[in-house]
Amino acid sequence: MIKISVPTTNSPTADLSPELAQTLPVVETFHSIQGEGAWAGTNAFFIRLGGCDVGCPWCDTKHSWNPKRHPQQTIGTLVSAAKAANPQIVVITGGEPLMHNLTLLTQQLKAADLQVHLETSGAHPFSGHFDWVTFSPKRFKPPHPSIYTQASELKVVVATEADLAWAEQQAAQLSPTVDKRLQPEWETSDSQQIVFNYVLKHPEWRVSLQTHKFLGVQ
Ligand code: SF4
Repeated sequence: MIKISVPTTNSPTADLSPELAQTLPVVETFHSIQGEGAWAGTNAFFIRLGGCDVGCPWCDTKHSWNPKRHPQQTIGTLVSAAKAANPQIVVITGGEPLMHNLTLLTQQLKAADLQVHLETSGAHPFSGHFDWVTFSPKRFKPPHPSIYTQASELKVVVATEADLAWAEQQAAQLSPTVDKRLQPEWETSDSQQIVFNYVLKHPEWRVSLQTHKFLGVQ
């Protein structure tokens, strides 16, 4: 894994266009592989935005929840860092990235010839222009209706049997062509067996594993 540091203060904005001078709270950026879902194994540059109000008890990025704890970065800085990494895909994640309007950021990333993916719980109105949208709904804050026509894949984290019913409720609201994956919750010992058993009985679902955690990378 190559980790790319982003300055903790804004870059000078005097020379930037108004679009590139807009800012967002950024927890971190890093260059790694996409560990999960349909694009697992792909060279990816991650932009983790600050802010989340979903409240998953098993969240592994709780430090991202308060956007005020993270420095504002210009869109120009983020696009430059992503371009320099030369990834196959750029993944905008969080936190819950749809707490922010993603239109300008995604426009500028695509203007730089980058393929742009989103990881979202769908809990806020949809914005932005994406090549792929991973919809990972959470029972703790139901999705906004705007996500259901945008999702490319459905990825549901499973900690208990109750999550399987939630997964089916969400799948029923999506096109049948959307990829459907169940991902065992990493810290819950029973979750792998629950997912394994379910997928054997329901072949329309696949297993998603957090391969980056098995590899010990970010
Ligand atoms: S939606 Fe994601 S970032 Fe927010 S609490 Fe749940 S797991 Fe954590």
